[in-house]
Amino acid sequence: MGIQAWLLQQLTQFFGLQSLLHVISTGDYRSLLTVGGLGGMLAPLIPLLMVFELLRSIALRKFKREDYQVPLLTLVLNRFIGNFISIAMIGFCIGLFQRFAPFQVGLSWYGLPYGYVVWELSHFVYHFLAHKVRLLWCLHATHHAPVAMNLSVNYAHIFLEGAYADFVRTSICMLLGVSPPLLVLIMIIDMFWGQFIHLGEHVLRDGRLGVLRRVILTPSHHRVHHARNVLYMDTNFCNLLNLWDRAFGTYMEQRDDIVIEYGITREIKPNNLLDAQLGEFYLLAVDVWKAPGLRNKLLYLLMPPGWSHDGNHHTAKLAKLALLQTGSGQSDAAGPAVAAAPTTSPGSEAAPAT
Ligand SMILES: [Zn+2]
Ligand SMILES: [Zn+2]
Repeated sequence: MGIQAWLLQQLTQFFGLQSLLHVISTGDYRSLLTVGGLGGMLAPLIPLLMVFELLRSIALRKFKREDYQVPLLTLVLNRFIGNFISIAMIGFCIGLFQRFAPFQVGLSWYGLPYGYVVWELSHFVYHFLAHKVRLLWCLHATHHAPVAMNLSVNYAHIFLEGAYADFVRTSICMLLGVSPPLLVLIMIIDMFWGQFIHLGEHVLRDGRLGVLRRVILTPSHHRVHHARNVLYMDTNFCNLLNLWDRAFGTYMEQRDDIVIEYGITREIKPNNLLDAQLGEFYLLAVDVWKAPGLRNKLLYLLMPPGWSHDGNHHTAKLAKLALLQTGSGQSDAAGPAVAAAPTTSPGSEAAPAT
């Protein structure tokens, strides 16, 4: 394949145009009414919006190369391995767990709301654990590394995170009777929304979306999730409905008196792809290596980021408690407990678009 043909193929894939081009070339426009057709129509929207967002930040003279560099390099890395592993994992979980469901809910008027509530629960579980179990945080931290919000953040994921997320979400959905066709439909809608909520302030200054924020997880909620401000950390884990965040007490609205600072609480080498991808794994390995005894080594893998075997913890939960006890609750920066953490603590996040 010549370089031009290869470039054209890569651009077609990036903009998600394969399905639409296929429909146009075959003239089979009725296929747009199927679940696959819906995915084909939605796929190009976010990449096109990202190009608009990028051009707008250039026009406003606010473009910074480092805001895009690491996420887009990660996209290139993931294109080769991540997608393949994710699809294999979904198929594996369907084969393993669907048979244990006590009932099956398919594509129907009540199936979609039921399936979505279950899907949101499964997404909450995956995402909550990704923040609260340090080994899983290593998989998820790449998504929280960017220090600005824009649509390229969608692509900032270590390739193994997709497999972990799909394992948890697909397993829970299968066990609770969501049929595979319904799951695929929900995944398509969710992928679109999960990408949209990363829209940056250059395009959508106030992401609260009015009264919709009462039930929908808005770009504003997700900006809060990506913040490393102590009060915002570990909140808003849902993706489209904020139902389970409200149920489990992790719901947080954006406050006018707190300026969001994006990123994770440890210093990260700017523009360093290796640090964004593997920095957390390295720090975890150092802690495990130095920890006395097998029990402590295991606990470093399973306890939240910031946990320490000597009791000198710097977790997000303790930092938040300390801040609230001082009575201010107004801080717009990472508090000293977390900022001084020797290891790391989560900034407050998708998935793969999540
Ligand atoms: Zn997160
Ligand atoms: Zn995100």
